[in-house]
Amino acid sequence: MRPLPVGASRSYTTRFQQAAAVPNNMQNTLQALRGLQELDQDIFRVSQEVARLPRELEQRRAIINARIAERQSLEQEVLAQKMKVKELEDMTTVQRQRQRKLEGEANASRADASMLAAYQHEIRKIKREVSEAEEEGLQYVEVADQLEARIADIQAAIDEEEKVFVELSANVEKELSEATEKLAGLTTERDKRMSDSIPPDVLTEYEKLLQAREGLAMAQLEDRVCQGCYMGVPANIYVRIARGREIVNCPNCNRILFLQS
Ligand SMILES: [Zn+2]
Repeated sequence: MRPLPVGASRSYTTRFQQAAAVPNNMQNTLQALRGLQELDQDIFRVSQEVARLPRELEQRRAIINARIAERQSLEQEVLAQKMKVKELEDMTTVQRQRQRKLEGEANASRADASMLAAYQHEIRKIKREVSEAEEEGLQYVEVADQLEARIADIQAAIDEEEKVFVELSANVEKELSEATEKLAGLTTERDKRMSDSIPPDVLTEYEKLLQAREGLAMAQLEDRVCQGCYMGVPANIYVRIARGREIVNCPNCNRILFLQS
């Protein structure tokens, strides 16, 4: 085999190294990103959990508080009804006293027929008013009874929900501490995997995508279909990924695409 001229050999080697070095770097970057992605999907999920659990508890609390407010408002209504009953009772007491007084006066003026008729007319009027007031009072008592029955039902529901809430609080606390612990483990592992082969701008883009795409910033391209959004991509996308010189995003979901390695 004829030896290559010195200059040609160097030129060939340099060009080969350049050609190999570029895709290699990009391959390293993609590999490092995929290492992060493995953890980041879990980190995203567990973070969501950590945010969701206290919210769930707050929602439950709000439901119970709304019931308590409803009960309090019904209690106010009961008080108002009872106040009306009391007013009617006071009024009928006064009316009855007046009735007895008139009856006494009527007895005393028995001789005068027209006076007697006037007294009797007035006494009948008072009796009618007292009877109407008693009926009205009974209606208020009935309303108050109905309200009190509703209050008892609501209170029973509140008691039940408070019991559930105590259990739920304990569960949430347990799940939250487990999730926080898991998150710490994942974050430590992620720090270990963080690599210099990911340029800062690529990392920033990747992390933005993680948030925008619910923890999945990367997707494999399989038979020219993005496995993140299941949309087909143009042929040149495949060519660009295969060439391995740049980060290639899915034109539809924007995820960073990679090929099966
Ligand atoms: Zn996609």
